[in-house]
Amino acid sequence: MSYKNFPMVSKVVFGRGSFNQLSEILAPKRLSMNAPFIYLIDDVFRNNSWLTSRIPLAYNDKILFISTKEEPKTSQVDAIVEDIILTTKELPSGIIGIGGGSVLDLAKAVSIMLTNEGEAKDYQGWDLVKNAAIYHVGIPTISGTGAEVSRTTVLIGPEKKLGINSDFTPFDQVILDSELTKDVPKEQWFYTGMDCYIHCIESLEGTYLNTFSETYGTLALELCKEIFLDNNLSTEASEEKLMMASWHGGMSIAYSQVGVAHAMSYALAYVLGVKHGIGNCIVFDHLEEFYPEGVKVFKAMKEKHHITLPQGICADLSDADFDKMISITLNLAPLWENALGKNWKQIITPKKLKELYQKM
Ligand code: NAD
Ligand code: ZN
Repeated sequence: MSYKNFPMVSKVVFGRGSFNQLSEILAPKRLSMNAPFIYLIDDVFRNNSWLTSRIPLAYNDKILFISTKEEPKTSQVDAIVEDIILTTKELPSGIIGIGGGSVLDLAKAVSIMLTNEGEAKDYQGWDLVKNAAIYHVGIPTISGTGAEVSRTTVLIGPEKKLGINSDFTPFDQVILDSELTKDVPKEQWFYTGMDCYIHCIESLEGTYLNTFSETYGTLALELCKEIFLDNNLSTEASEEKLMMASWHGGMSIAYSQVGVAHAMSYALAYVLGVKHGIGNCIVFDHLEEFYPEGVKVFKAMKEKHHITLPQGICADLSDADFDKMISITLNLAPLWENALGKNWKQIITPKKLKELYQKM
């Protein structure tokens, strides 16, 4: 038996207002006057001086505002990398991602592709990256995906939605300042928060479970129940706890795998462009058969927060669309094996998948 040996985020700051320390954290990492820090920041903050006035720009440092209407694409990573190479005199001192899972993933991918040849799509998979990435920092502004702690950066490529999973992917530095999440719209808070909840259920109910994953997953699951079902939490406490739930949920899947909801929602993202958080919710709502207790609690959370999920999103799909989705999801073998065991192919057939998608 050979056990996985994987890297973790090397440095982390936690605390409300810790974003103010960005300047002192970055200063020693500046390689030269010609090697700028490049900030990838969610477009939602474009006119938000509360946040942007605290970005310590110097020399040729630059901010790129990123639209998160769609999930990150390999072609988008390649375009940003090309722009950076064409407009800077030396390779950057660092890439700093400020935003949700989308921007954090872009920041990780850009930092990798600045030092590795070819296109981002060539690296979708496991352990294909050869050279260490540029120093990269993750600053989440919404909690749930675990992208701040994970060893992957999930991208939509020409052929698949798949992560660049590598030892060079995790951030060198993360800043966890829950105050940055204060203006997240309620529905998005729920969808991205449920991503964390679903990570926990899929990890804890999976066949890959081990004590490493179980301890992180159990802790994150308890936090999620407190945040989404308890009436007694202050807003600040709830924001801080969700930030830590996201972290622990991410740690839990690092050493196991996700399951049915993620396998099915990846295909929804690819074919219909449904985003990760809401896509997971739409799928998970119909998975009683696989996760009876988890879905029951999910429905209680949904009700408590008056969340109405879209219905009938697969109503107008052609047979070819269904076939495409089914083929994409069935390709995610490790997720299915984790969820259903070694004989998963006997349990989850194309016919069964089509019936499930038709309910959504
Ligand atoms: P997101 O990054 O797409 O952001 C969702 C929305 O929230 C956007 O409209 C954004 O503008 C808005 N937003 C973010 N912070 C805000 C703030 N403070 N105030 C107001 N609005 C704010 O959503 P997400 O759910 O965090 O991330 C989804 C992405 O993460 C997907 O692309 C998914 O594939 C990826 N993901 C990655 C991992 C990983 O381990 N790398 C894990 C899970 C998901
Ligand atoms: Zn997820």
